[in-house]
Amino acid sequence: LADSQIEENKVKELNQLSISYNKMLTRLSDAFEIQRQFTANAAHELRTPLSLMQLQLDLYNATRHPGNDADTIQTIKMVTEQNDRLNKMVKTLLDMSELQTVGRDEVIAVDALVDEVLADLEPLAQEKNIKLIGKCKDITLRGSDILIYRMVYNLVENAIKYNHLDGQVTVTAYQEENQVHLSVEDTGSGIPEELKERVFEPFFRVDKSRSRELGGVGLGLALVREIVRGHEGSITVRSNPSGGTVFEVIL
Ligand code: ADP
Repeated sequence: LADSQIEENKVKELNQLSISYNKMLTRLSDAFEIQRQFTANAAHELRTPLSLMQLQLDLYNATRHPGNDADTIQTIKMVTEQNDRLNKMVKTLLDMSELQTVGRDEVIAVDALVDEVLADLEPLAQEKNIKLIGKCKDITLRGSDILIYRMVYNLVENAIKYNHLDGQVTVTAYQEENQVHLSVEDTGSGIPEELKERVFEPFFRVDKSRSRELGGVGLGLALVREIVRGHEGSITVRSNPSGGTVFEVIL
């Protein structure tokens, strides 16, 4: 074949390839959209019966039942707790499925946002006499205010939940070139090295019974990772040299 013919065939082949890649990408993004819709629909459908059950339980718990035996009291307590867990799960799944539809172009004052999270979580910290420290530079970030708040909130909430009595949580933020580094450092139980990556998987918990006791459902960090991805950032987890864990987000 003449050189020009070979060139022409190559171009044709490349064109074919690019068309099939495009088709594949479209199919892939359609599949993601279907999955997102499914999660959203399932969560919406679950929300109504769960709310009704919650209402009935709240009503029941608000009324005195002097004749109840210990078994009944225990059963009602368990059902109330499990219903609460399901409510939390459904709410987080809904939040996750709605991530794509949230606007991302707000200018966020990082130190004010962190102060707000720390103030909102102060009562939880007080229960274990944990000191919350904010060390944030006066910097701004572009993104979704509501999602970044949720991201920091989940990280700080975990840093409190998995901390020891009289522990400490430090949130640091600074800018390097055009990236914002935000880290949440605790003095808690730490995460075993081999499980560090797995904590971001939905429903994964290092210690299931402890997490359940603390009201966890295993979706907090999965949501954090989705938020970070949605802002084209990265998140890493490492051990705190003085004990505990450090989560670092770069946006
Ligand atoms: P949960 O609702 O169980 O807290 P998350 O997705 O937020 O779910 O976290 C997943 C698991 O990762 C937790 O169950 C816990 O075992 C572990 N984990 C998260 N943050 C910390 C932390 N700061 N210190 C120790 N373990 C943590």
